[in-house]
Amino acid sequence: MTIAEAQEQIIRLKREHGICILAHSYQAREIIEVADHTGDSYKLSVAAAGDEKSVAIMCGVRFMAETVKLLSPEKTVYLANADAGCPMADGLSAERLRAAQAKYPGCVTVCYINTTAEVKTLSDVCVTSSSAVKIIRAMPETEILFVPDCNLGAYVAAQVPEKTIRLISGGCPIHAAVSADDVAAARRAHPEALLLVHPECVPDVTSRADYVGSTSGIYDFAVSSEKKEFIIGTEISIAEHLQYARPDKKFYPLTKKLMCHNMKLTTLMDVYNCVLTASCVREADKQITMSPETIMKARRCIDEMIRLGGK
Ligand code: SF4
Repeated sequence: MTIAEAQEQIIRLKREHGICILAHSYQAREIIEVADHTGDSYKLSVAAAGDEKSVAIMCGVRFMAETVKLLSPEKTVYLANADAGCPMADGLSAERLRAAQAKYPGCVTVCYINTTAEVKTLSDVCVTSSSAVKIIRAMPETEILFVPDCNLGAYVAAQVPEKTIRLISGGCPIHAAVSADDVAAARRAHPEALLLVHPECVPDVTSRADYVGSTSGIYDFAVSSEKKEFIIGTEISIAEHLQYARPDKKFYPLTKKLMCHNMKLTTLMDVYNCVLTASCVREADKQITMSPETIMKARRCIDEMIRLGGK
């Protein structure tokens, strides 16, 4: 089967069986092309909730499929490759979070959306990388335990100095691997380019950037800017997607280290096999399942984010 033939079959099957395909922006082009919705994890969960189809397939990592299920408990949700996990989300267990909460008893817990559903059940407010600063500013509380990404947490703390933000070790190993030396090398190679970076990068990197923002923030900034060259400091796929969106501009990955192998685990044939599974047998063991109690408790921190103005 060729890529084009696989894509044709996926599109036919998803239409015939009422299946919605969600592709995170870090997925490969051939997967993005067959998706109904693309974007970051929260945007995909909201899009799935607003989509009338009763089955959703997430092409991304496990916490993203869980978030789809939290916002659409009535839907059947699959993860296209069941082995695709996120080291940042998986690195924070409920036990570790409980220990941190015991250490900082006066703090409310703010979790990044890149967390398991179990961790969300123990959190007060959820944030995304684009909403974190706004939400934490809007919260009445001044003592905050921010988990699990200490780099995003440090970035937020610098923007909201009036609050005390406690951090624990943890974060995205892909973004955290970028160094100030990588920035210097990219600046030397592309002296005319603006540097746009994700707040999951270390402070040594974010402090040297021309723009710091979420994946969608970086994308929108680069597309709409009058500038013509950009060094992209987030997962390597974004530079590629931007190049398709604006062939008149130039986009350079900040470093080749910015490749998430967990995101790249999902192949087009995984999507094809998942669409086949979803359309024929609806195999229960491949679905994302949670107890009604977990869904109810984990949703509360997302609802609180929405109440505080997060989108
Ligand atoms: S890029 Fe980082 S946060 Fe995103 S899925 Fe990969 S490891 Fe997790």
